[in-house]
Amino acid sequence: MSATDKVRVTNHPLVAVGLSVLRAKQTTPEIFRRYLQELSVFLFVEASRSWETKAVDIETPLASCAGVVLAKPIVLVPILRAGLGMLDGIQRVAPDAAIGHIGIYRDAETLRPVSYFERVPVNVAAAEVLLLDPMLATGNSACEASSILKAQGARSIQFLCVLASPPGIEQFHREHPDIPIVTAAIDPELDDHGYIVPGLGDAGDRYFGTG
Ligand code: URA
Repeated sequence: MSATDKVRVTNHPLVAVGLSVLRAKQTTPEIFRRYLQELSVFLFVEASRSWETKAVDIETPLASCAGVVLAKPIVLVPILRAGLGMLDGIQRVAPDAAIGHIGIYRDAETLRPVSYFERVPVNVAAAEVLLLDPMLATGNSACEASSILKAQGARSIQFLCVLASPPGIEQFHREHPDIPIVTAAIDPELDDHGYIVPGLGDAGDRYFGTG
């Protein structure tokens, strides 16, 4: 995998516009939800760009023609809780996807990930697996969730996020060099609390209106 395949930054004006809405502190939870779901669809399209398809025969109302279906099933795995904010949009364009959940919280003092819930679909080994979390900050949660997925047999995983930090990318690819990251942007810094700067704040709080 080349360096550019390892971190793909979605380059699209609508993604840049949506990200600006998400970043703005005056954006209400209602609008935040809408834009996070919509932006996630762009990330999904980018991640699925090179997925294999299988030929199938199609009958249109007028004639036979060649069509395709995806070669592998899709498994979506949001990291609770903010990853849920990326799920509905992607499910709208991938309604057959199976959904797993991984619950990880970040200990406020150590910033280390603590796993409290794991439920992964049985077909994960054969699937294209997309791990979802809007923020790749320290990289700890993404690393832990990826290890859980691999332990359950996942072989083809991509990590989708809205914002990534350079230390998070470095840490993630130190532990999981085989998992590409698809993101809307890379922000320069992490603050002392592990927040991405300029970032968009706490994605879960903003999505669920708990901030
Ligand atoms: N999680 C968030 O929600 N925001 C950050 O900036 C970092 C981690």
